[in-house]
Amino acid sequence: MIVEIHGGSRPVEADELFNTISKQNENPALFDAEGVQMKPTHIEHIGIAVKNLDAAIKYYEEVLGLKCYAIEEVKDQKVKTAFFMVGETKIELLETTDPEGPIGKFIEKKGEGIHHVAFAVSGLQQVLKEVESKGVQLIDKQPRKGAEGLHIAFLHPKSTGGVLTELCEKP
Ligand code: ZN
Repeated sequence: MIVEIHGGSRPVEADELFNTISKQNENPALFDAEGVQMKPTHIEHIGIAVKNLDAAIKYYEEVLGLKCYAIEEVKDQKVKTAFFMVGETKIELLETTDPEGPIGKFIEKKGEGIHHVAFAVSGLQQVLKEVESKGVQLIDKQPRKGAEGLHIAFLHPKSTGGVLTELCEKP
């Protein structure tokens, strides 16, 4: 693997890369696996920010051969979403309905691409308390309603190695 360090490129070892990432965390979690209550069962979905939902759906259907089974607007998040099933995991395409919405701002800053990863958990309320007690910054202290009626909560990417992380639970 090659990473950019202070303008120059050189191969780095995996543990060196991990250390670099850890140092970037402003609010590092205590990585202690003992007594962990959260046991995600699978990746519930991967959220992908797109500029044009129709064009993106066409790619997922006509190139990847997946079938869009639902399109849903989540007013709260100012997004229109399209869902595809891949095994137990979904792909969630996100198009903003407002340039000032979270996906609109994301695309303006970073362009299209992976926006978040969502893990399926049970006991979300309890899991959030546990995660917070480990020093992880929560975006949502209480579960709220997401697409498909799931209860969801986000963890701040500052605490998760740069990956906006969603936890979700079936109601
Ligand atoms: Zn999501």
